[in-house]
Amino acid sequence: MIYPATETFIHEAAHSIRLGGVVAFPTETVYGLGANALNAEAVAKIFEIKQRPFFDPLIVHVASHEMTREVVATLPDIALRCMKAFWPGPLTLVLPKSAIIPQIVTAGLDTVAVRMPEHEVAQKLIHASGVPIAAPSANPFGYLSPTTAEHVFSQLGDKVEIILDGGKCPVGVESTIIKIEDEGIVLLRYGGIPVEDIEAVAGKVSVIRKQEVEAPGQLPYHYAPETKIVLVKDVSKIPDDSSYGIIMYKKRDVAFKNIHIMYLSDDGDLRQAAANLFTCLHALDALRLSVIYAEEIPEIGLGKAIMDRLKKAQARHS
Ligand code: AMP
Ligand code: MG
Repeated sequence: MIYPATETFIHEAAHSIRLGGVVAFPTETVYGLGANALNAEAVAKIFEIKQRPFFDPLIVHVASHEMTREVVATLPDIALRCMKAFWPGPLTLVLPKSAIIPQIVTAGLDTVAVRMPEHEVAQKLIHASGVPIAAPSANPFGYLSPTTAEHVFSQLGDKVEIILDGGKCPVGVESTIIKIEDEGIVLLRYGGIPVEDIEAVAGKVSVIRKQEVEAPGQLPYHYAPETKIVLVKDVSKIPDDSSYGIIMYKKRDVAFKNIHIMYLSDDGDLRQAAANLFTCLHALDALRLSVIYAEEIPEIGLGKAIMDRLKKAQARHS
């Protein structure tokens, strides 16, 4: 059920987490499906609800630096610099794990992904629970991430007892994930913090393609709606058919009468575009169209994360 994220319901949700339950809650990126990260059985329920493969590790959400130190084995200087610059916020750090994190959380890896969310409800929930919260996005594996409580309910329904409603997620795309290695920083997923910003405070970020998939963000398709997605440079050539949808980058006058049009931004603001991305995809997907066309956007800053999600959605049907 959906409950408003008042103090009362946050405390009820925290109580459920302490008892080994699973709750959905808002973060600034997307809605998460959380459980006590220190309780393997509780975390197993997340995989069951999401139908998520066990090879796919979860992000551990913390609300203090003290909690961070409990879940990692080492905190190198470069990680501290990133934390200082971007936490709380949409940056996830992959670091050597401590012994208290169960294997199920990290899919057997000796590293753990950690993030301190900025969303007030997420912070309050973690504080009230008193434990780090392991949470992937609150959607079935591979499908569009939820950016409203209604998205969570329509995708997971009664499988989640408590869905805390904190409104629409302000960032709207998942966190950027970086791995901190001795040799430097490796990008595992584009997301809410632009790579350029990380490089400005922590030096070069390499975007190497590893053989093994470390983040499903690296799978060829993910974040996909049911409807076929086709990326296009020039939307003016699309036939004006009512079985089509278009996601346009900016608002402008177009000749279409029949096509279902949604806009990512008013005038090209990438932050606004990111925040609206999954909302547009969810809305058009619900119309059961034959194709959703998506206008290509500039691959700079947050545009990289947006295009990454659109390309992965397109790859599902090609
Ligand atoms: P989600 O929360 O559903 O957006 O997914 C979390 C992402 O973090 C997935 O892409 C995971 O593969 C990635 N991740 C979590 N832990 C690790 C880790 N130890 N090493 C690499 N990637 C990780
Ligand atoms: Mg996800």
